[in-house]
Amino acid sequence: MKKLKLSIVIPVYNEVEVLPLLFERIISVLESCKPSLNDYEIIFVNDGSSDQSLDFLSKLLKNNPHIIIINLSRNFGHQAAISAGLSEARGEAAIVMDADLQDPPELIPEMLKAWHEGFQLVIARRRSRQERGLKLCLFNLFYSLFGFLSDYPITLNAGVYGLMDRVVIDQLNRLTERNRFLPGLRSWIGFRETVVWYDREERAAGKPKQSLLNLLKYGFDAIFSFSYKPLRLSLLLGLTISISSFTYAAVLLIMRLLQINVVPGFTTPTISILFLGGVQLIGIGILGEYLGRIYDEVKQRPIFIVDNILRSTGNKKTNLFPENESANEPTGK
Ligand code: UDP
Ligand code: MG
Repeated sequence: MKKLKLSIVIPVYNEVEVLPLLFERIISVLESCKPSLNDYEIIFVNDGSSDQSLDFLSKLLKNNPHIIIINLSRNFGHQAAISAGLSEARGEAAIVMDADLQDPPELIPEMLKAWHEGFQLVIARRRSRQERGLKLCLFNLFYSLFGFLSDYPITLNAGVYGLMDRVVIDQLNRLTERNRFLPGLRSWIGFRETVVWYDREERAAGKPKQSLLNLLKYGFDAIFSFSYKPLRLSLLLGLTISISSFTYAAVLLIMRLLQINVVPGFTTPTISILFLGGVQLIGIGILGEYLGRIYDEVKQRPIFIVDNILRSTGNKKTNLFPENESANEPTGK
């Protein structure tokens, strides 16, 4: 069997509570994968953490040559941190996973098996999830809406957790769009795709680092980056309302000419003004969502800025995948 050089990319933002457990679980899984694994690197992308995360990771780095730490210049967000990690990944395949153990590392052997079977994209799909109440309602609403709106098929109920072959990583790194939705982008790229199922657990420690507002923006990025339907729907709504109001106007005119039931009213004009005003504002809002994203694209700012990259030094085993060495160069993308 061909042995694999694997990169694992983990975005980290104030995760000091969970990092020890995460490291322990990943290492024990990777050790158990040894027969199919040639070598591996674990890339932690420190997304501007203000807690002790960096100190903890730096200590790990001293004793473990497999670890790489990418320090971003500030907090750029989940998706940007993942992009930073993937741009530095040197493996023949990379697994992206969250730090909070909601993505169980124990799924890695199954993903490697799928890669060995020839799949280039392995998506970890959620059979169930632990969120309750408003968050669960919003997730369900999002997935039904996104399934309906998306202009082409994207595997639903999946987050960033998954394995990508080198061909997918290279293509993903070429995509420069700013408002990134990785589950959509990786499916858009194509190649042979399969899913592995898992039950999404609670975060192992600490509080969620993405606020509801962040998640809402992420949902909007998904919809507005992967669908023109909102624009078409607002056009359709506008047309429907115009046609109905023209018909209503014609009916009123005829009634007026025939002197039927003509009462100078207040209700009808008020309702129509409010209704049409609301519809126009929704239409403008939808345009604004696209316009804002176009503005982000034309500004051409990098998706992330790297402050520095830390690798263990003085250890012969340090340069895991030395053919593509580019350590310690502050870069942006
Ligand atoms: N994260 C990040 N930058 C941020 C927010 C989150 O790198 O600005 C990381 C975080 O450390 C975690 C992952 O992204 O590893 C997912 O975050 P979280 O668990 O808060 O998201 P949720 O599970 O609620 O979607
Ligand atoms: Mg989480």
